[in-house]
Amino acid sequence: MKTITLPSGETVPALGQGTWMLGDDPARRQEEIATIQLGIDLGLTLVDTAEMYGDGRSESLVGEAIARRRDDVFLVSKVYPHNASRAAMRRSCEASLRRLRVETLDLYLLHWEGSVPLGETVEAFEALQRAGKIRQWGVSNFDTDAMERLWRTPGGDACQTNQVLYNLGSRGIEWDLLPAMRARGLPVMAYSPFDQGRLLRNAKLVRFARACGMTPAQVALAWLLARDGVIAIPKTGRRQALEENVAASARPLSADELAELDKVFAPPAGATPLAML
Ligand code: NDP
Repeated sequence: MKTITLPSGETVPALGQGTWMLGDDPARRQEEIATIQLGIDLGLTLVDTAEMYGDGRSESLVGEAIARRRDDVFLVSKVYPHNASRAAMRRSCEASLRRLRVETLDLYLLHWEGSVPLGETVEAFEALQRAGKIRQWGVSNFDTDAMERLWRTPGGDACQTNQVLYNLGSRGIEWDLLPAMRARGLPVMAYSPFDQGRLLRNAKLVRFARACGMTPAQVALAWLLARDGVIAIPKTGRRQALEENVAASARPLSADELAELDKVFAPPAGATPLAML
């Protein structure tokens, strides 16, 4: 499995697991837990969740899935912007840790920028690090201007990643944000690599995948895996789909295939506002 090095020097797999909407349907719970566990077995050890997802249901499910194997996982969770102040972040983080049944998060992200000043949020992250409740921190849904402001904030250069929408059909970050982050050695964590499933029904992608002997999901992931400094976090609650997604890491796209995809899913021709879900 390809790995990505964080600014801290720590390496993580370039393919991880998203968990938004997992834990919402009690009838699917056991399959979802088994899927996360299979993903860890197959090397998708980075698991992404958030206090927002299902009002804590995703974190609780992840907690159940990783019980007894905490050390195998690089655990990522996120704090709501309205909880990003000193006092509220501590309470939020402790609630996430309880639901996840762990002592420490490996990475804690600000879910998007809100009204709490960045300086206060950075101090709140630093306080949680000192208390041993998080090891590292980062942000999500930050455009280039927001990243520049963060880097000018005291302590802001300790940020480990920016988790943003990035997939074949949504390439706007290649214009400015991705180069700015690469210049700082900061990986992008690409969320919604399948555009929540919509991309997989794109007729052009379906045709391209068939011609390559791959599935649309595998092309979407192999395309992200071909890019420097990008971590992809697809979500599935099904073991079969998980195995299909993992197999994408064993089938790199050739230079010709990548050039062909550029014709179908064009890179940006100018700056665009950061796309978000
Ligand atoms: P994805 O782009 O990962 O798509 C998930 C959808 O694709 C689900 O419907 C899933 O269905 C389906 N799917 C997965 N694998 C396959 C496959 N091999 N074949 C067919 N269908 C498949 O969407 P998400 O929005 O969930 O993004 C991934 C993760 O990114 C989230 O779960 C979350 O952790 C994070 N995220 C972060 C955001 C942020 O603001 N920071 C915003 C959005 C997401 P099924 O489960 O039935 O397989």
